[in-house]
Amino acid sequence: MEFLAIDYRSPSFSIAMLLIVIAVTALIDHLFGVYKERQQNKKLSNFLSRFEGARRSTDYKNVLELQPDSVNALILLTNIYYKSGDYAESIKICLALLDILADENERVFVMTRLAGAYHKAGFLQRSRDILLESLRLKNRNPEALKLLLVIYEQMREYKSALDVLPALQELGENVAMEREFIQANVVIGDAFLSVEKKLERLKEMQDRSPFLHRLVVEFAFLHDHVKAWNVIKGERLIDAIDLFWFLPRKSYIESEALKYPLLREMYTAKRWQNSAEGSGIFEFDLLIKLKDSEPSAVVEFEYRCEKCCSLFPMHFYRCPNCQKLGVAAVEAILAKKSAPLKGGAEEINFD
Ligand SMILES: [Zn+2]
Repeated sequence: MEFLAIDYRSPSFSIAMLLIVIAVTALIDHLFGVYKERQQNKKLSNFLSRFEGARRSTDYKNVLELQPDSVNALILLTNIYYKSGDYAESIKICLALLDILADENERVFVMTRLAGAYHKAGFLQRSRDILLESLRLKNRNPEALKLLLVIYEQMREYKSALDVLPALQELGENVAMEREFIQANVVIGDAFLSVEKKLERLKEMQDRSPFLHRLVVEFAFLHDHVKAWNVIKGERLIDAIDLFWFLPRKSYIESEALKYPLLREMYTAKRWQNSAEGSGIFEFDLLIKLKDSEPSAVVEFEYRCEKCCSLFPMHFYRCPNCQKLGVAAVEAILAKKSAPLKGGAEEINFD
């Protein structure tokens, strides 16, 4: 019976045992992977059930069931709808895709696009929730993190916005401007700081980060129009020229305005003083030259993004189109007095 005894020292037994261990480990790993995927599917399905209204109203799910290979075409289509501004249709396609996509990277991509469409459509909280869910699946996603930062800023959740910055920095993004801008807003919104303290801190921040000039000037004139004249930086005045144009007369101090060439030109064009013969800005120059004529024009301002060249009727600190910070160029334009006024327009005051 000796031939039936197992020789534990034989090399073939050791190899057999090793193979069994490898097989068991692979099986456990596979089962764990399946379990994890099912849990993620369940979580995602529960999460997506919150958007049931948009999911029900779509036929894209039927298309995908009939033709599973149409995934790439639908991803392309959702991008086309997104770029053309049809966010509702883009959202429907993304939700249908998320019902069938199994690949994690594809899911994360579509979720980021879905969050972008909800953001553009004005659903900030929904967009934030989708981004947080996508970052749970894959946290190294700069596009999702950048959008989350923008949404926290728009929701004035500045503490949460600051929490996003280290993750972006870890991915190699330069977030110095973002940090200064958010911290300046934290100071402005701090209920425990006096206006005096806020101005003191904002001036320090402005010295470090000149792009904050307009934000500081805007805050200062809203809260203390006398001290506000002390925060002005002559070399950055063009960034806030519209604020000075629309300044209430009671906030205007002529002796202060006379210190800055651009303000001398602008207030001469506005006819609050007569200290300039001309201006490097065409619109102001024209008004100065026409000072003896009857007024027939209004001054308007428009705001151009220096990165993507989009034009907006309202000022922005972060471009609504490309989301870049600190790229607004303020430009004066003239319009006929009888023309309909756009946002930010004002008739020239000739008192
Ligand atoms: Zn832009």
